[in-house]
Amino acid sequence: MSRLDGQVALVTGASRGFGRATAILLARAGADVIVNYRAAASEAESVAHEVRGLGRRALVVQADVSDPRQAHALAQQALDTFDHVEVLVNNAGIMDVRPFVDQDLDTWHATLETNLFGLLVVTRALLPSMIAQQRGRVICLSSQLAHVGAENFAVYAGTKAFILAFTKSLAREVGRYSITVNAVCPGSIVTDMNRAIYPPERITQRAAELPLRRLGDPTDVAEAVLFLAADSGRFITGQCLDVNGGATMA
Ligand code: NDP
Repeated sequence: MSRLDGQVALVTGASRGFGRATAILLARAGADVIVNYRAAASEAESVAHEVRGLGRRALVVQADVSDPRQAHALAQQALDTFDHVEVLVNNAGIMDVRPFVDQDLDTWHATLETNLFGLLVVTRALLPSMIAQQRGRVICLSSQLAHVGAENFAVYAGTKAFILAFTKSLAREVGRYSITVNAVCPGSIVTDMNRAIYPPERITQRAAELPLRRLGDPTDVAEAVLFLAADSGRFITGQCLDVNGGATMA
């Protein structure tokens, strides 16, 4: 298995879903983990409990990354506690599934502030220390929808497409410091975020459409993040790793 011994990873939105699976897998690979959450305190504590059970250190930080002050304080607390953070997983995200014309300004603000500003502020706050160390891995959760779009997902998919362009541009900017910046683009994986649009009959139908004939699970995404975070990802930057059972192929 790829190893992250002695490294520190900050995972935003680590209380549930992909973030939870990622935090635990990175700890299993040897990393100490900052477990960020917004509202699900007991779920975050349970992730930290698992991380500590693996012999790693865990710091649970409640912070709403859509608030720039809280997002910045999250990164600062991570650095104050551990002194260094090698791996940043920009995972926290929200989704509003409605026709574009039915959405309002408040929904757009919430989606852009969480999915984009949160990612930007935390990344901006951690990069100087990564540059000083000449070492770092930034991994951003985009989506299959960034490639193909979808009805009722216009604004959400737009935020995920932004993340891809941001990933490529930042990768060009910070590669000289041995920092890689990559995206993971999941699709066809059921979590709390999209459970409502995946009733059991839809899961069966969707699985039959996919080359791999099954939906994914959060561990499939966590494995991709670990691959990019560990030494296995050392010569990969500015890329998008699609984790979608073959639903889309470039
Ligand atoms: P979940 O809804 O299962 O979990 C979301 C996590 O993000 C929770 O831990 C939640 O914390 C946290 N979160 C949400 N808003 C904030 C915020 N403002 N500040 C801090 N934490 C926040 O989502 P998934 O695991 O499904 O998704 C994770 C990422 O993957 C997202 O960026 C999503 O867009 C992306 N993605 C998901 C896909 C899917 O199929 N599920 C497909 C493609 C991309 P808390 O519970 O404490 O509020």
